[in-house]
Amino acid sequence: MKKESKFIKVKCEDCENEQVIFSKVSNNVECNICGRTLAVPTGGIADIKTKVVKRVDE
Ligand SMILES: [Zn+2]
Repeated sequence: MKKESKFIKVKCEDCENEQVIFSKVSNNVECNICGRTLAVPTGGIADIKTKVVKRVDE
């Protein structure tokens, strides 16, 4: 059983937009509003580059 959250809610540090992103990404995740990079892939697990609001567990 993995304890990792599958989704993480993050808040853009530039425009304060909140969005939920997958904890494992294969491409850079950008803010939907301003395009700031929010997460980058690091071998599967996203390296979050902004504030994490909370983990969204299923
Ligand atoms: Zn933004």
